[in-house]
Amino acid sequence: MSHMEIILGVIFVFFLFYIALLGRENKQLTKEQSEWEAIPTLEEYLRKYPSCKTNFGIRCNYCNSNRFRAWGRSSKHDPQRVMICFHCNNAAYKLES
Ligand SMILES: [Zn+2]
Repeated sequence: MSHMEIILGVIFVFFLFYIALLGRENKQLTKEQSEWEAIPTLEEYLRKYPSCKTNFGIRCNYCNSNRFRAWGRSSKHDPQRVMICFHCNNAAYKLES
């Protein structure tokens, strides 16, 4: 084994280590992402709970309230919004734009 091969080997090991670290950070990001993904869109919500669509608007599937507050995903002005029930804090559905 030449000197050059050893150096390349060491660089390679560091490279693998770096990739592993990056993967860990991505996992934390995707956890937040998957929590967001778990909230149904309005269409999915109404497919899941057809009776939640009433003449007075959308109802909460837990407490039947039809009052929601639109909560920005990461900030007040985030166009991605979660509709949270005013009464029971159930995250009912999301609006993506
Ligand atoms: Zn509710």
